[in-house]
Amino acid sequence: MARSINVRRKEVLPLVQEEVRRYGSELIDEIRMGENVLRVPGLEIRLAEAFGFCDGVQRAIEIAYATCHVMKGKRVWLIGEIIHNPEVNARLDALGLLHLPWNTDGKGYEHLTAEDVVIIPAFGISLKLRKMLEERGVQLVDSTCGNVVKVWQRVRSYAQRGITSIIHGKVHHEESMATASHSLGEDGRGRFLIIYNKRDAELLADYIRHGGDREQFLTHFEGCHSAGFDPDTDLNEIGMANQTTMLKGETAQLQQMLREAVQQRDGDDSRFHAYDTICGATQDRQQALFDLLETKPDTMFIIGGYNSSNTSHLAHISASRLPTFFVRDASCLKSLQQVRAFDWKTKSEQLMSLPDFATDLQRTWRIGITAGASCPNNIVEGVIRRLASLRQTTLEQFFPSSQLS
Ligand code: SF4
Repeated sequence: MARSINVRRKEVLPLVQEEVRRYGSELIDEIRMGENVLRVPGLEIRLAEAFGFCDGVQRAIEIAYATCHVMKGKRVWLIGEIIHNPEVNARLDALGLLHLPWNTDGKGYEHLTAEDVVIIPAFGISLKLRKMLEERGVQLVDSTCGNVVKVWQRVRSYAQRGITSIIHGKVHHEESMATASHSLGEDGRGRFLIIYNKRDAELLADYIRHGGDREQFLTHFEGCHSAGFDPDTDLNEIGMANQTTMLKGETAQLQQMLREAVQQRDGDDSRFHAYDTICGATQDRQQALFDLLETKPDTMFIIGGYNSSNTSHLAHISASRLPTFFVRDASCLKSLQQVRAFDWKTKSEQLMSLPDFATDLQRTWRIGITAGASCPNNIVEGVIRRLASLRQTTLEQFFPSSQLS
């Protein structure tokens, strides 16, 4: 049996707080204390009302640091990444954290013994993997976010009631895979189907209404459903849940499409269930971005890890409305002409051109900035400082009260 350990002990808290402080930023605190805008000659930078670390991420990082301190001398393993942020992960690596591949079946875990300590990341792990770790008797430190656990409770209750879970999420995202495993229920007989976008929802809605070509349906959703999934029998009663970091508006739209399909088939929607499981932090960050876009900055910078789901959604929202650059950190800003930013077409970082007026130091460049839930404030500060330096202006003149250096 695995042993769960409390690592956030009184004696290590000061050490952990010191570690976590490095991710803060006095500059960001100052900007937030004002109107969320920084104005210096030639530059106006407006921050979103809500961005950066959420409570779940902050807690996961604290747990990981605390484990490294409390378990000094032991082998401490982390499953996958604690969060999708390269700087945070590199810092934990420097403390000696070892890595296990994130997978659902425990391949590569054969060497673990009862002497090992294993940290479960914020997005959780599959039921099967957890059981396997428990059987090995490892010491488990669980940093799964409470919002993710709520989604699992939801899909487990669907499974108990014979309802098929329709999960709106990315099929290869750790959280969705973990949620899918929970939707199988205690006896493993539950069913799930993961849908990602409107096209998936249209195909599914169509099949619910009229049935269709079963093989074609299964080919389209290959790898996205439970073993033995049969659309002819497993869509009788469906319940929706979503990856916590999806786009709120999109999830609402997909829910409506599926609700209508069940309604048309049955005459009512009693065999359709939906609960919004997008977490509050994600919703706040999306809404704050919409508000920020209303102010119509010339250019948007979205900061965060490229494999972060919630950050990618922010970047998508922004790019559909304004010139947007999705950057990892300050090092991406090469000059006032060029920036290295994530490109959706090639799914990689590419050199891109900034607008021509960026080089015009007489004109005020109005910039909007937000960051994903896994991006610390010190990274955001780095980007602001780099922009100021490229524009040959200093920030200190705007914040006489601060100790900024
Ligand atoms: S984004 Fe939401 S679900 Fe994910 S860790 Fe943060 S609070 Fe938890």
